[in-house]
Amino acid sequence: MARGTLYTISAPSGAGKTSLVNALLADGDNALCVSISHTTRTMRPGEQNGVNYHFVSREQFQSMRNAGDFLESAEVFGNLYGTSRIWVQEQLDQGMDVILEIDWQGAEQVRKLIKPVKSIFILPPSLPTLQERLTGRGQDDEATISGRMQLAKNEISHYGEADYLVINDQFDSALDDLRAIIRAARLEREQQLRNNGALLQDLLA
Ligand code: GDP
Ligand code: ADP
Ligand code: 5GP
Repeated sequence: MARGTLYTISAPSGAGKTSLVNALLADGDNALCVSISHTTRTMRPGEQNGVNYHFVSREQFQSMRNAGDFLESAEVFGNLYGTSRIWVQEQLDQGMDVILEIDWQGAEQVRKLIKPVKSIFILPPSLPTLQERLTGRGQDDEATISGRMQLAKNEISHYGEADYLVINDQFDSALDDLRAIIRAARLEREQQLRNNGALLQDLLA
C-alpha cells in the first residue's frame, strides 16, 4: 500500500502559513490534506469549529492528551494545541500526503516519532512586514499582536531544524516553492517504486 508523506509547516505567527496551506489545498490535489488541530484557544471571528480547528476546553484537551490521542501537543501563546494521532496515521496509510501546521515544539516531537518527515519553515521577508501582516489580518488585539511579535524571534530561531526554508515575500512565488517541495518528494525513488512498481517490473521483464 502506498504510504503518504508527512510534512510539518512551522512559522512565526503571521508569516502566512495558513494562507499558503489553504492556497495549496485549493489546487485540488486529491492526495494532499491538512490536519485540523485541537486547540483551547478561543475562536476568531469567521473561524468554524471542525474547519479551522476542533475547539475544545482545557479539560477536554487534557483528557484527550492523557488518553494518548495526540501525536504531538504543545502550549503556544498560553493555549494548548494538539494533532490527532489516529487521523494522521489513517491518512498516511491511505497514501495521502498530510500537512501539519504546527509550531517548532510540535515539529520536534513529530520528527522523533515518524520517519521520514519533511519539515518546512516559512519566513517573513522582514520583521516590520510580519507586524504589518499580523495587524492587517485584523483578528487579534494589540496585546496579542505584540505578544506574538515578541515570540516571533524565538520561533524563527528554530529555522535550523527544518529541511526547507521558504521565504514568503511574494505570495505566489512562496506557493510555487511549496508546490515544488511536494512534487520533488513524490519523485523520490522510494515513493515512485511504491506508486509505479508494476511499470518497473514491466520495463525489466
Ligand atoms: P496563527 O498561526 O497566527 O494563525 O495562529 P494559530 O492560533 O492558528 O496557531 C498558534 C500556534 O499554534 C502556531 O505556532 C501553530 O503552529 C501552533 N499550532 C497549531 N496547531 C498546532 C498543533 O496541533 N500542535 C502544535 N504543537 N502546535 C500547533
Ligand atoms: P499564519 O497562519 O502564519 O499566522 P496567515 O496565513 O494568517 O499567517 O497570514 C497573515 C496575514 O498576512 C493574512 O492577513 C494574509 O492574508 C497575509 N499574507 C500572507 N502572505 C502574504 C504575502 N506574501 N504578502 C502579503 N500578505 C500576506
Ligand atoms: P493560531 O492560534 O494563531 O491559529 O496559531 C498559533 C500557533 O499555533 C501557530 O504558530 C500554529 O502553527 C500553532 N499550532 C496550531 N495548531 C497546532 C498544533 O496542532 N500543534 C502545534 N504544536 N502547534 C500548533
